[in-house]
Parts: sequence; structure tokens; C-alpha cells
Amino acid sequence: MIKVCKFGGTSMADGNTMLRVKNIIESDPARRYVVVSAPGKRFGGDIKITDLLYETYESVKLSHATGAPFEKVAERFRGIVHELALDMDIDGILAETQAEILKEGTADFCASRGEYLSGRVMAALLGVPFIDARDVVKFNAEGRLDSERTYSLLAEALKGKPRAVVAGFYGEDHEGRVKTFSRGGSDVSGAIVARAVGAELYENWTDVSGFLACDPRIVENPVPIRALSYKELRELSYMGANVLHSEAIFPVREADIPIRIKNTFRPEDEGTEIVPTSRHTYSGRRVTGVAGKKNFTVIFLEKSLMNAEIGFTYRVLAVFLKHGISFEHIPTGIDTMSFVVDSAILKNGVLEEVCAEIQENVRPDNLRIINDIALIAVVGHGMARSVGTSARLFEAIARAGVNVRMIDQGSSELNIIVGVDNENYERTLKAVYEEFFE
Ligand code: ASP
Repeated sequence: MIKVCKFGGTSMADGNTMLRVKNIIESDPARRYVVVSAPGKRFGGDIKITDLLYETYESVKLSHATGAPFEKVAERFRGIVHELALDMDIDGILAETQAEILKEGTADFCASRGEYLSGRVMAALLGVPFIDARDVVKFNAEGRLDSERTYSLLAEALKGKPRAVVAGFYGEDHEGRVKTFSRGGSDVSGAIVARAVGAELYENWTDVSGFLACDPRIVENPVPIRALSYKELRELSYMGANVLHSEAIFPVREADIPIRIKNTFRPEDEGTEIVPTSRHTYSGRRVTGVAGKKNFTVIFLEKSLMNAEIGFTYRVLAVFLKHGISFEHIPTGIDTMSFVVDSAILKNGVLEEVCAEIQENVRPDNLRIINDIALIAVVGHGMARSVGTSARLFEAIARAGVNVRMIDQGSSELNIIVGVDNENYERTLKAVYEEFFE
């Protein structure tokens, strides 16, 4: 039995938390491969190592010196090594890292050093080999993971090692430069290692006891989700439930490896298990979770006999393609079609340009922009098997006095998405949660 364990930033925050990590790993012989994040915040107002490293990059760009931010990074690591009384030449490693930052000088290289250093410290603490992700995680020329190569390099590197630590968050591009995943990407690294070694379980250790059915900043004490399917997870994390990086499921899903979210600070808690959709059993709840995000723009188009006009959608999408814009949803009617886009992408005149080109390309009878929309997704396999979910959903929203601006139901019956004005977001989320969970 092999478990791959990934530990997030709060689990790596200082010597004390690293000792917790050591205990967790050593309490189970199956916990063989450990993937680590960079040290995160120790207290409110503290700065994550990764953020300090992005600041270091800014400093190098501006003044060709690593400056105060790197000094803070170095201090944190020296402190940790001292606290743990480790016999390692941390000053030498830090000096070497600083020189490499000045030489390689990219933002990705700088940012990756948090995981590199915390990996080295954790390997020393456990007394096991350290694997530099640069040697085993490879990206192709398109910037995507070269999975075949990565899995075989990792399997080779870990073969015969009873235990090892792998640095999360980064790898190497096709030209030999360090490249990181997007923020929070050590979750993806953990999934890749789990897949490469054919683990029976991917344990993702963080500072919460798994997924909650709703955002605890908005709903007080939401119920925990004990189990959910990969598909439900994908819907919920895409919509903002950010316990796990939304791309972390892809590597493990291919090999049917379940994920368990665990809390480093309450290891006895059961956490949440994420299982392959085929193995998912009905929990008795019709809704598994509710999540949402603010700040979308809806581009609404109307044209008589749109349905008969061949190539209509194609010509609209050509405009999106030209501007490199991805959209989130396209709810349609007989003669209407709406494109829901993250508002941030449409800033600085992009929206105006896109609209002008759409006008020209398809000559709609009506083109309207609806700004400041929040999306709320109600997710659960249980919805497909029970009657009246949408009736209850819309009644609850109506009772809260909120006007629904848009509805989109995925054809899989796994989710219903409603759009409301940003200002009604919190109120709607609460009303929907209360309807299905209280
Ligand atoms: N340290 C990186 C970040 O802060 C990656 C991670 O923690 O997963 O985004």
C-alpha cells in the first residue's frame, strides 16, 4: 500500500508544524512519498514565503539585488532549521539559492525556491532523500505537463526508495527553465506523484477538515462533506470552493486513485474523501454542496430566427478566439444566446472591442451587456434522482427577495447555476444553503 501525502503551506509554516508533519508521516508506514508546499502564514498578517519570493523577483528586476524580501525568506528558513536543530548547511544552501536567483532571474524560478527549500528541510528532518521537481516534472513546448515523461521519470526516481520528499509547485520546461504551476499548484504536484507511483490513496493535508457544504465566511458552520465524486469536486472547486487546486484531480482520476483531504492540526478528523464518480454512492442528500463566485459579465444576444442561421455561434466564438477569451457558460434560448465571461478578462477596452466585432460579425437585433453578475452553483449527483430540486431552489431565492438574472443547468443534471446581481450574492448563497441543509 502506498499513500502519497501532500502538505500545504500552513503545515510547513514553522518548525513546530513540520514536527507534526513528521509525526503524521511516521505514524503510517504506507505514507511513503511526501510532497511539500513552501512555508505559509504562521499567523494573520504574516507573509507567505511564495509571496516574499515574488517580491524578491520584483526587487531583482528593479535593482539587480535580491534585497529585503529575500532576507526575510532566508531568516524564516534559518529559524526553522535552528528550531528543529537540524544538521544541515542552511547558510550555504541559501547563498547558493540567492546566486541562482540572480543568475536565472525569472519569476517562476524565484517563486519555486520556497518549495525547493522546504523540501530540502523536510527531507533532512525525515532523514530521507530529496527529489528536485526540476529533474522529474517536465512541461512540453505548449507549457502543459508532459505526463508520459514526468510519470516515468518520477517512477524511476522513487523506485526502491522506501520514503522520499518531492518539492511541489514546479517543474522544468522544454528549454530547461524552471516553470511553476498556477498558485496553489503543489496540489497538482501531489496528484502527479500519486499517479506516477500508482498510489492507493492521495492524502492532501491542509488546515481544514475537508470540504464544507458552503463557504464558512458566508454561512455559519456549514456541514462538512464526508464524500464527494471527482465530478462534484470539479464543479465545486471551479466555482470557488478552494480547498484543492481545481486541476489536481486530473492525474489521479485517470488512475481511479481516491483523494482524502485531511487536517494537519486535527489528524483524528475524518476529512473528506473524493472518489471516482463510478464508485460514488448516494449519500441520501440531493445536494452535496453550494458554491459561487462574483464578478461576471454577461453578453446577451438576441436575433430572430437565430436557430435557423447556420454559423451564428461560430461567428461569435471567432471573436472570442481572436481575443483569446474563454467563457464560462453559454445559456441559450430559441432566439437568444448569452455568453458569461469573467469580468477581469474584459477590462481595459476589451469588452467594447469584442462587442463591436460581434455586432459586425452576426448583426444581432439586440446586444446587451449585463455587468456585476455573481454565479451560484448547486451541485450534487442526488439532484438527478429527486423531483422538485429546482422548484425548491427558485422558491428559496424568491423568498430571499432576489431576482434571478440567468439560469443554466448542465445537461448532466449534476449542477444548476443561477446568476444574480453581485450585491445579492451572499444573501442568495445563504438562502440556498438553508433550503437544502437546514
Ligand atoms: N507555494 C505555492 C503558492 O503559494 C504553491 C502551493 O502552496 O501549492 O501558491
